[in-house]
Amino acid sequence: MKKKPLTLLIGSVTYTVLPITQEDIDGNFAGRTDNARCQIRVDSRLPATNQSHVAFHEMVHGVSAQYDLHLHEHKVALLSTGLLQVIRDNPDLFRAMTTEKFHL
Ligand SMILES: [Zn+2]
Repeated sequence: MKKKPLTLLIGSVTYTVLPITQEDIDGNFAGRTDNARCQIRVDSRLPATNQSHVAFHEMVHGVSAQYDLHLHEHKVALLSTGLLQVIRDNPDLFRAMTTEKFHL
């Protein structure tokens, strides 16, 4: 049975998360966000942890596009690395925040 592709909702736009294309491989990209096609592509040959980092980085590109932030590559790289570290190092807090169980 064919695996259902992952999707990611950013604002009102649903992105499909797919493996990178041969063109991206040839262009030496680990990931790519195509806002016109609503696709995020990630190099599936990378180790799983690296794939999730690349996907998160591409998600920040998508957020930048959908929320008109105009973030340049360097800012996307720093913001995605920082946010992913905070989320990974605080799983209980983020579980509470995303399930409306956050009470002080
Ligand atoms: Zn980037």
